[in-house]
Amino acid sequence: MTTTNGLAARESTGTGVARERTGLRWENRVGSASSFPSRIVRARSVDDVVDAVRTAVANGEQVHAAGAGLAATGIAAAGGVLVDTGDLKGLVRVDDQQGTATFLAGTTVGEAIAELDRYGAMMIGAPGDHAATLGGAVSTGSHGYHPREASFSAQIRGLLLVTGEGSVLRVSPRHNMQYWPAAQLGMGALGVIAEVAVGFRRNAVLETSKKRRDIDRLVQDIPEARAKTDFYRVDWRPNTDQAMLTVGWLEDATPAVAAAKRARLEAAPAAEPKPRRRSRIRTRLAKFLPFLAPTIDRVSNFFDRTDNEGLRTPQQLLGDADHGLQVEYQFPVASAGRVVEAIKLLVHRNRLFAAANVRISLVAADEVWLSPAYARDVVAVCLQLPGGFDAANERAARDAENLFITLGGLPNWGGWHTLNGPEAAHVMPRYGDFAHIRTDLDPHGRTDNPAIKRLLQH
Ligand SMILES: Cc1cc2nc3c(=O)[nH]c(=O)nc-3n(C[C@H](O)[C@H](O)[C@H](O)COP(=O)(O)OP(=O)(O)OC[C@H]3O[C@@H](n4cnc5c(N)ncnc54)[C@H](O)[C@@H]3O)c2cc1C
Repeated sequence: MTTTNGLAARESTGTGVARERTGLRWENRVGSASSFPSRIVRARSVDDVVDAVRTAVANGEQVHAAGAGLAATGIAAAGGVLVDTGDLKGLVRVDDQQGTATFLAGTTVGEAIAELDRYGAMMIGAPGDHAATLGGAVSTGSHGYHPREASFSAQIRGLLLVTGEGSVLRVSPRHNMQYWPAAQLGMGALGVIAEVAVGFRRNAVLETSKKRRDIDRLVQDIPEARAKTDFYRVDWRPNTDQAMLTVGWLEDATPAVAAAKRARLEAAPAAEPKPRRRSRIRTRLAKFLPFLAPTIDRVSNFFDRTDNEGLRTPQQLLGDADHGLQVEYQFPVASAGRVVEAIKLLVHRNRLFAAANVRISLVAADEVWLSPAYARDVVAVCLQLPGGFDAANERAARDAENLFITLGGLPNWGGWHTLNGPEAAHVMPRYGDFAHIRTDLDPHGRTDNPAIKRLLQH
């Protein structure tokens, strides 16, 4: 039996046709969800996606899309046909006048950013997870670190959707607009997205700096940061009061200046890779000797690198990609102080959090129906539990989630959560509207899987 999680199944046939496989077990990256699809179809073109969905419909099978498998719940799992978008890659077209670039939906965020960079362009609303596919990032409402920008779902310009019934729909603010606020964040429950059009800006460069700051002071300064910065990310070891703040500003530049700056950046020695070994040692020590966690974290803080102002590529701002199990909830900005205080208490009292990290970012309000930032500017608080989905991390994740819900948070759909339909219906004002559109586009629930059922049945 072979296990596949998107990337693992990506050896190419080189034939230009969709490749089908059976008898595979699918598992998400963190190991919290798995399924046995009846078939895995690795689509390479829009036609492949249409064929896969229509064949499933004709056979009365379930069908569900998967990207890179990074979502921490089972929302990408499929019992019937799994449409693996790992080979559905590439730039389809660029519209310079509109400032949009259309990609096949399996293109990763990192690949799309690199492609746009070749055009001297920068993606608007780029998600922070560069390994995610564009289709996966849209479907879960991923966000990046741009405090004045809304989530990626809110920033895309359109998409091509193959519905759960096999119809092909262009959905955007101009086309089939009745579906737009639902299709912008559909969790794979409306069909398979084949193309995503993203917005871009030209002639801009990002200057950043990285500083150590007191966490309480950082929280007080959030309103100012929202008003004045173009990049904002806080990495905090919650056993200590110190956090690393990365802030940035977009600078306008003429094409020549922007090109020269980018060239300088490319010629510069590669940024020091984040010291993963040190972070692994910290994790092990903290797990085995949790009472020493505050001391271990103070020492780790001391060794963190700070940076003076300078140009950065999006890749250089990523940090360590392996954060284990992630639980992210989003809160009204005014709640940031309460949330940080509550996390301090939680971590102090509970040894399961000895090795935890917290990442804080800011996301602007949007009008996407299932977005946790619907009609409210939010602070996104992501608790990262190193390691996989083991019993200890699951218990810790549940404790954190209970706290976050009590504090009025709503989940990032790409993180780990246990929210169900009735709960979501109480706290998400447009949940019912989404459910209606879902009935229109996938009346027979062909895209259902256990996680989607949990979320959409109420
Ligand atoms: C290390 C790490 C860092 C992360 N950083 C961030 C971050 O900074 N910000 C943030 O918001 N999130 C972050 N996430 C969450 C992550 O970005 C989301 O889970 C994202 O959905 C992952 O994309 P994917 O391609 O792996 O999608 P998958 O996990 O494969 O799928 C997620 C959902 O999207 C659907 N889907 C995927 N492709 C399609 C398609 N073509 N058509 C229709 N539906 C589709 C699936 O059915 C499923 O419902 C992070 C996760 C990890 C593990």
